[in-house]
Amino acid sequence: MIDLRIKVEPLPIVDPLIVRLRNEADDLGPNDAVLIGTDGARREYDFQGFSLTLHASDGVALDNDVIMILPGQASARRLIRADSQHNTFLITEQCDQLCLMCSQPPKKNHVDLFAELETAASLAPTNAYIGLSGGEPLLYKGKLFGMLLSLAKTRPDLKFHILSNGQHFDEVDIATLQELGPGRILWGIPLYAAEEELHDAIVKKQGAFDRLIQSFAILFEAGAAIELRTVVMRQNDVNLPALAAFVGTALPFVERWAIMQLENIGFGRMNWDLSFKDTSTDFDNLARAINIATARDVPVQLYNFPLCSVPERYRHLAAASISDWKNKQEPFCTNCSARQRCGGFFEWYDHRKGFRGLGPI
Ligand code: SF4
Repeated sequence: MIDLRIKVEPLPIVDPLIVRLRNEADDLGPNDAVLIGTDGARREYDFQGFSLTLHASDGVALDNDVIMILPGQASARRLIRADSQHNTFLITEQCDQLCLMCSQPPKKNHVDLFAELETAASLAPTNAYIGLSGGEPLLYKGKLFGMLLSLAKTRPDLKFHILSNGQHFDEVDIATLQELGPGRILWGIPLYAAEEELHDAIVKKQGAFDRLIQSFAILFEAGAAIELRTVVMRQNDVNLPALAAFVGTALPFVERWAIMQLENIGFGRMNWDLSFKDTSTDFDNLARAINIATARDVPVQLYNFPLCSVPERYRHLAAASISDWKNKQEPFCTNCSARQRCGGFFEWYDHRKGFRGLGPI
């Protein structure tokens, strides 16, 4: 597991500080700190004439990484890892749903860091792809759109993948969505069933399904790109073929339909025994759903499925979707010929309670 925090020696700051770490002193900007010395794990940077000291082990490359240091904290967040495609900003921990499988259960408080996150994004490498997640980012829609509009001007090369519960799009947003550029943003929006009651029960919010359908119409009108996301659970497994038919009929414009396995953290861990559907031993409903979607020209991808959990016929759909920093393999993967292309497991996956039908390919 890659640590997204890095030890930092205390600084007398009162506001969050965004710093880009540089090994070379060329073309420096106001947020750049330049490496001036290393001593074992200790790395000393010059930041605007002051000393900034971090502690990172030998193999950790930090050149062009962007970190955020909060007042009074002894560790900094690595917001942008320059050599990774898996950089995600947490916009807020608040949410208006309580989904059974949520990996990041909502919290009451919100810490507003839009200005800092905008600065961090502005320092990202060229053509970076940045994830924005929550909680529900659109609870702060005005500020979120403000940040994205500003970055569209200053950093038009950046692209974003935004996870949203799809409960907050309004008709008045259409112009803004168009201005943001459909090619620059992929909206990852979950739908768990074609049946209103079941979807609402899974997200624990009455009326969520109806609101979601309104939002899809708005996103469609704006020409926005949508990644429809469905987590497979025991609660909705049998309903997947009906959902596939619904997607093919009502939502054929989605960029792709990502069908996902459960992540055993947060509410996903709390509800694991009730919700985990072992698709390595029973792929039938999922196969039917994929067949229906494919017949209707809806592109399907499987996220968080180890390759050997998927029947051979569908393996080409399984993407290596688990972010590099939270990815692992199991001991039985050592002799597998598919190791390089397999997405593996979440770091917190517990095989004793997991897939029963796995083994080297
Ligand atoms: S044995 Fe491991 S590496 Fe091979 S497909 Fe299964 S999970 Fe992936």
